[in-house]
Amino acid sequence: MSNQTYLDYNATCPLKPEVFDVLQHVMREPHNASSVHQTGRAANMLVEKAREQIAALVNAPTNQVIFNSGATEGNNTVIQHFKDEPILVSAIEHDAVLKADDDLIIIPVDDNGTVKLDELEALLKEHKPALVSVMYANNETGVIQPIADISALAHKHGALFHCDAVQAAGRIEIDIPALGIDFLTLSSHKFGGPQGVGALVLGLCGVTPTLLHGGGQEKSARAGTENVAGIVGFGKAAELAKAGLNDFRAQTGIFQTTLEDKLKTYGGVHIYAQGAERVSNTTLFSINGLSSETLLMAFDLDGIAVSNGSACSSGKVEPSHVLKAMGASDEAASGAIRVSTGWKTTPEDIEAFLNVWHKLYERMKDKINA
Ligand code: PLP
Repeated sequence: MSNQTYLDYNATCPLKPEVFDVLQHVMREPHNASSVHQTGRAANMLVEKAREQIAALVNAPTNQVIFNSGATEGNNTVIQHFKDEPILVSAIEHDAVLKADDDLIIIPVDDNGTVKLDELEALLKEHKPALVSVMYANNETGVIQPIADISALAHKHGALFHCDAVQAAGRIEIDIPALGIDFLTLSSHKFGGPQGVGALVLGLCGVTPTLLHGGGQEKSARAGTENVAGIVGFGKAAELAKAGLNDFRAQTGIFQTTLEDKLKTYGGVHIYAQGAERVSNTTLFSINGLSSETLLMAFDLDGIAVSNGSACSSGKVEPSHVLKAMGASDEAASGAIRVSTGWKTTPEDIEAFLNVWHKLYERMKDKINA
């Protein structure tokens, strides 16, 4: 196992030991939740227990949870369902929304990365969309969107509302009825569950978007043999995330404050979205004059796993579309470093990061425009 200091929880999160225990146990059996024999019925009971655990995490009725392979599938399922009608999505959505259809209409954000409600309302009046899609917490900046206000506006203008809550689950409370959400996507591996499993949770609008057709699994809403072990692990991770939410916020909040207070003492450092409400586990910052590629490599060599806000495609770092939408220059949008913490992060990890940071800063000082 890697002995790097892992501070990249928004990319993926280590499996919790309790989740590993249930996974190990379930994976030993030939579980097909659709089989009518005893082994199949046992699998079905495990899946139904997990459905209750997911429903409890987001305050939804159990029968509104549809298991799938993760949030890329969940987001595509919803967007594809409405693809013949106008769809509004925020400029800072994950590519799993932005690339799910060719002609999405973009809602701008302000310089803190928060959706502009007045512009949203103008677009609703102009385009009369069938769907509005805005994420709960942004994966790069951690900014929390005013979801209840956004969904109220969408509904007022006759649109349904989809929320990608991948980076909110396990970090802040999610209450589907209170937030007015019609479709919500979740991914297990962002809060201590296994990869390759997630859920689309329906509100009470009565529409069931379906992407995969075939067998009658998930009441025909998502065909394909259920990933029983993955679903059980996902359910366990959801139960733990719900029970540990306050502790998570308190603990990661201390890390965030320690980190940001220290970073601010260095000239040339800019921390993004400080004027907005953010999840407590995420800090995105850049240093004038330094590219995130250079910094990422230097951190990596010194044993620290962090991430850059930018997308990396064909070996070339593209400026972050999130930071661009917030008004950042190409240079700034290519230079950001994201630190994201989680359940296994310790004060020593933060100290290790800050020690390496100090060393790198001293070494690269002459290149920094303080
Ligand atoms: N949405 C957001 C906000 C994400 O951060 C991610 C993963 O990075 C996804 C969707 C895609 O999730 P998955 O890995 O489950 O396909």
